[in-house]
Amino acid sequence: MGNNIPRKMNRILILGGGFGGVATARKLAKDMPENSSIQMVSMKNYLEYYPALYRMITSSSPIEVCVPLYEMLPERVAVDIDEIIEIDVVEKHAIGKSGSKYFYDTLIVAMGSETAYFGIESLKTMALGFRSASEAIKLKNHLAHLFASHSHQDKNELVSHYHIVVVGGGPTGVEVAGDMVAHMRSLAKIHQTDPSLVTVDLIEANNRLLSMMSEDVSDRVMARLRTLGVNIFLNRQLVKNDIEEVFLKDMTLETKTLIWTAGTQLNSVCTNTKGFTFTDRKRIAVNEYMEAVGLSDVYIIGDAAGTKYSGLAQTAIYDGKYVAKTVVGKAKNKKIEKYKEKPVAFSIPVGDSWGAFKMGKFTIYGYPAYMIRHAIDFIYFSQVLSFKNFISLFLEGFKYRKVSEE
Ligand SMILES: Cc1cc2nc3c(=O)[nH]c(=O)nc-3n(C[C@H](O)[C@H](O)[C@H](O)COP(=O)(O)OP(=O)(O)OC[C@H]3O[C@@H](n4cnc5c(N)ncnc54)[C@H](O)[C@@H]3O)c2cc1C
Repeated sequence: MGNNIPRKMNRILILGGGFGGVATARKLAKDMPENSSIQMVSMKNYLEYYPALYRMITSSSPIEVCVPLYEMLPERVAVDIDEIIEIDVVEKHAIGKSGSKYFYDTLIVAMGSETAYFGIESLKTMALGFRSASEAIKLKNHLAHLFASHSHQDKNELVSHYHIVVVGGGPTGVEVAGDMVAHMRSLAKIHQTDPSLVTVDLIEANNRLLSMMSEDVSDRVMARLRTLGVNIFLNRQLVKNDIEEVFLKDMTLETKTLIWTAGTQLNSVCTNTKGFTFTDRKRIAVNEYMEAVGLSDVYIIGDAAGTKYSGLAQTAIYDGKYVAKTVVGKAKNKKIEKYKEKPVAFSIPVGDSWGAFKMGKFTIYGYPAYMIRHAIDFIYFSQVLSFKNFISLFLEGFKYRKVSEE
């Protein structure tokens, strides 16, 4: 496969079909002059809506979390499902695992980030991850299996059997831990097991949770987690894990369930690309037009870009729209505006019907913040889906949730 697009066309290649890639492709398809081709290469044929992943463990359907690319992208965008293994910025092509070469005149790199294990190799095989729908399903099955599988009588053994350890006190770890106690206790009831046997620990290497937010938010979220029954250990770094044992710097925990949410790093294909330079945060350095430093017509967006607010879906969508506008502007010989960083809003649900929302100096907690989170989900989806698909997807997800609650 690859591409055989005539050279007289301006060949635009988008790598990655996540938030940033989809936002870029939709805008380019609408505004780009006809003498351009738009091609997307992505590993999966759907967009994974990470912000709703944690709900998949307790209620949501995979339908709500994985949205097929064909439902979001206009026909004008040619989509290839392939895993990119190399980007060559000299020869101007990307190479797929299939052996295909994808040539470009304009490249948009939107390949996101991946889990970092900080050199603790055993985590890759023994810990449960939380960065994809398949990992969320694996975790959901693992939890259900804990209740179906135990044959212990000894109380100590039962306590370690139902001991859940979540590592990482960032937004994902906080959300997962917040939901875990209630979910595990309801599974215990279904399986006629004593719910008091369930323990949920949250481990953080830093001296507070949610270190990207202000201290007052960390304190309120910590108090809320404690009310829900989560044990919080701060200043504890995981050094290794083994079968059924987690070694922190100064203590050992026995568990069958280690959920690793502690690290994120740049996509390794980008890390290995010759010609990219990197920021202190180890993201790709970009100029004021979001081009990779020293490389014209190679744009970097979303989690991969070394900008202040990268690492969030809202930034990836914003970047995608900016880059599409820039590429269209160049094609139409219009004046190009510089990229302006856009401050983000943080919204974190902590257990049922409670959340923390922060935008600039404005902070709210409790049910209103929890509802804002749902509103934000709607806003994101409405930006990457057509209105018709957006409504039907949410109705489907809602219907599914009703059925699974019955
Ligand atoms: C559990 C979780 C919860 C989150 N919650 C929130 C939240 O509430 N709010 C928020 O704003 N952000 C949230 N985020 C962060 C947000 O999801 C990311 O910042 C956003 O997805 C980044 O968009 P992106 O386009 O850069 O990358 P992604 O959306 O990750 O897209 C990358 C795309 O590239 C593809 N790809 C990767 N490698 C290759 C390859 N080698 N070849 C081909 N294709 C490849 C992937 O399949 C994917 O389609 C959360 C993230 C996680 C993991």
